[in-house]
Amino acid sequence: MRDNSWESKADEFSLYGFTDLPSVHERGTVVVTHGKGPYIYDTHGRQYLDANSGLWNMVAGFDHPGLIKAAQDQYARFPGYHAFFGRMSDQTVMLSEKLVEVSPFASGKVFYTNSGSEANDTMVKILWFLHGAEGKPQKRKILTRINSYHGVTAVSASMTGKPYNSVFGLPLPGFLHLGCPHYWRFGRPGETEEQFTARLAAELEATIITEGADTIAGFFAEPVMGAGGVIPPSKGYFQAVAPILKKYGIPLIADEVICGFGRTGATWGSETYDFMPDAIISSKNLTAGYFPMGAVILGPDLANRVQAASEAIEEFPHGFTASGHPVGCAIALKAIDVIMNEGLADNVKRLSGRMEAGLAQIAQNPNIGELRGVGYMWALEAVADRATKTLFDGKLSVSERIANTCTDMGLICRPLGQSIVLCPPFILTEAQMDEMFDKLDKALRKVFAEVA
Ligand code: PLP
Repeated sequence: MRDNSWESKADEFSLYGFTDLPSVHERGTVVVTHGKGPYIYDTHGRQYLDANSGLWNMVAGFDHPGLIKAAQDQYARFPGYHAFFGRMSDQTVMLSEKLVEVSPFASGKVFYTNSGSEANDTMVKILWFLHGAEGKPQKRKILTRINSYHGVTAVSASMTGKPYNSVFGLPLPGFLHLGCPHYWRFGRPGETEEQFTARLAAELEATIITEGADTIAGFFAEPVMGAGGVIPPSKGYFQAVAPILKKYGIPLIADEVICGFGRTGATWGSETYDFMPDAIISSKNLTAGYFPMGAVILGPDLANRVQAASEAIEEFPHGFTASGHPVGCAIALKAIDVIMNEGLADNVKRLSGRMEAGLAQIAQNPNIGELRGVGYMWALEAVADRATKTLFDGKLSVSERIANTCTDMGLICRPLGQSIVLCPPFILTEAQMDEMFDKLDKALRKVFAEVA
């Protein structure tokens, strides 16, 4: 029955992303009005500690004065422009220089989008463009991994290794998904972690040989899988796959949309896991969530080859109206400064051990099978039986119940599969972390008592 509440209006006029509509009807939408530090507030004045940082991105919290001022100043100075036809804003020039400077690359080039999905799409198109220009138009297949998340556009959803995209008839042909490097879940009985990694590397090489290296455009990987349920790579994974990709001339693209700019405790996830990609996909933290923006950062080899290809073809026929938007770029310049020089990245480094220790305590609960993560991204996987790693019956919706119970207690965390994910803003203090532990622990105990 329609009434005049925010919740009813939200339901009547809006569609949600990734939302189970019956459950949201039952519980009511959380309509958010404002935020303060890591907290958000709804239309009823209720406060929630957002241990999801919005969607991983609001790493500086919800009211950072420096970021707000950067936006206001740039709106007053020059509120919008594009990056087409040999023109771009001064802010865009400065941001590209900064991104190459903070990247692991000695030199490079940056292309801007409005989102992480579009940045992955753009990277795929850059590879297709490049290989085509180099006389290999058949070098088009894209390799990713099962459980990876790369976005929602037709191409990035095809890259995403999740079964739910079948409702769209995706993936498109030519998008191949290799094994997920999650040892705890996919390691075989008696197999060591090193053997597991070697098996995945062998699978990659066998796929390249079967498909033909000359048909494969690139390999994309999140350093830590985020929306797949926070899955750090198995031991030595990138050290095993990178040389194989190099041997067959297949670019390695790090999708750092979540990991980039501090989430894993270093500027890049590829730094934390000690590998050198050929290009980086960035978004989310790039503007600390204060502007929709994505970026493709090409390392020297790809940048030089794309430059040569563009000169040969005369034009790189791609770009979004808001690519390199000056307000977004001004915010990103400030966000990078805030994350790297105002103690946010340091906070993650300083407190990630504390976060791990607190969650390890909670993970002693017999219905937690695995605690996994790094930096400020962690997951606790719920199990009906820890010894056999057996999951709860899906009909019990255990992780959703835990997340809903947390929400009722004023803590936002995210159910992913049967895991609960915690990826708080980088500004989280010790006291706020304790609040998170306390509420999470209570919610887990309550739900496990109901279902176990
Ligand atoms: N890549 C990764 C690793 C992501 O986690 C996401 C979003 O969560 C994307 C790409 C897509 O980004 P967007 O939602 O901005 O399109």
